[in-house]
Amino acid sequence: MNKRFVVGIDLGGTKVEAVLLDDEQKIVARERIPAEASFGVDRVLRNIEAVIAKTAGDYRYEAVGIGTPGVYVEKDDRIYGASNSPAYETPGFVSSLEKRLQVPLVIENDANCLALAEFFSSCAGTYSHVLAVILGTGLGSGLILDNRLYTGPTGGGAEFGHTCIQFDGRLCGCGKRGCAEAYLSGSSLTRRFLETTGLELEVRDIYELYLKQEAAAEELFEDSVRRMGMFFANAINLLDVQAVILGGGVSNLPIWYEQVPPFMEEAIFGVPRGPIPILKAKLGDSAGVFGAAYLGLRKIGIMNF
Ligand SMILES: [Zn+2]
Repeated sequence: MNKRFVVGIDLGGTKVEAVLLDDEQKIVARERIPAEASFGVDRVLRNIEAVIAKTAGDYRYEAVGIGTPGVYVEKDDRIYGASNSPAYETPGFVSSLEKRLQVPLVIENDANCLALAEFFSSCAGTYSHVLAVILGTGLGSGLILDNRLYTGPTGGGAEFGHTCIQFDGRLCGCGKRGCAEAYLSGSSLTRRFLETTGLELEVRDIYELYLKQEAAAEELFEDSVRRMGMFFANAINLLDVQAVILGGGVSNLPIWYEQVPPFMEEAIFGVPRGPIPILKAKLGDSAGVFGAAYLGLRKIGIMNF
């Protein structure tokens, strides 16, 4: 039988990456070029077309999946919540892209693409209900319920980063107060440390200070592991997820895997569940583009989620 192919696109703030996958989820080709979003949406559209052409070459692909910041709302034909990349919020951006492609386009939030890829990489077959949390500049999340990607009726579901973990708490980038993102994202950890010490450090460097028992760093991480435990337990109490996948730039610190579980266990309610693993994401920055390609494979009937 002839092989079938799809393209996955990860549209980031600065780059657009494409992968050509075959029907066994194997990579055939992969390319990355600058998105050039500051030049406006027409330039981005041209760049997406260019990276698809470069990646696919002479292969005939049947669908394109794309992961973008924010959430696409079809009836308005616009993406909402891509505040770091305002060009992508231009109304008509997605339909213009669709018109330029000769094949069906499937669009999904980038954190959901990441969740999907990591779920298939480390959980599928073992766990059916999984929360993926991406600790980067922001705090993204994606939810797999009963082996299916859950996005809710508007597509705006599973935004755990903007659930409140502190009444009247810190101001979040979204304009609300007390969001988990305002405490636990990479940029929030950096900012919180800056506020108490006057030092602007990368999270990894703050962690080094924590290991040297520097007081302000200890205070920040001791507070953060408790908050993260509570944050994960909220999701478990609400949705009975069986595992949490942690990804993104800040997910590499061992402290999350060593110290969050007791606080999480303490805040879990109800039935005996056994330990709920916090799993480290495996795919790094490849996850987004794979998840996007999986959307394409679902579209042509190869994958089911
Ligand atoms: Zn928020």
